[in-house]
Amino acid sequence: MKYKSVMQDLSERRCYLCARLYGDETEKVNLHHHHVFSGPYKRASEKYGFIVTLCLYHHEGDITGNREAVHDAPNSKEYSDMLKRDAQRIFEQDHSRQEFIKIFGKSRL
Ligand SMILES: [Zn+2]
Ligand SMILES: [Zn+2]
Repeated sequence: MKYKSVMQDLSERRCYLCARLYGDETEKVNLHHHHVFSGPYKRASEKYGFIVTLCLYHHEGDITGNREAVHDAPNSKEYSDMLKRDAQRIFEQDHSRQEFIKIFGKSRL
């Protein structure tokens, strides 16, 4: 499936969190697509372009650990919420907060 993103240029093969946290904009060999809002909001994530690419370390963890992984790690919520807040800020550039809550359940800001 071809995803669109309003959060980054998906063709550049960067990890959103490597860039966001460390200014590391180098190309990554292995990237996973990550839905910023998942579960019941997965389709809305696709519709609004809230998709990022993450390196394995930042997605599910790799051999160096999972300290900053958005899934299944002790600190996951901190990093997945960072993405959700970034997405909401972008959404609210041209939509109201009420609309955001209607679509994505609650505000993270
Ligand atoms: Zn990364
Ligand atoms: Zn994911």
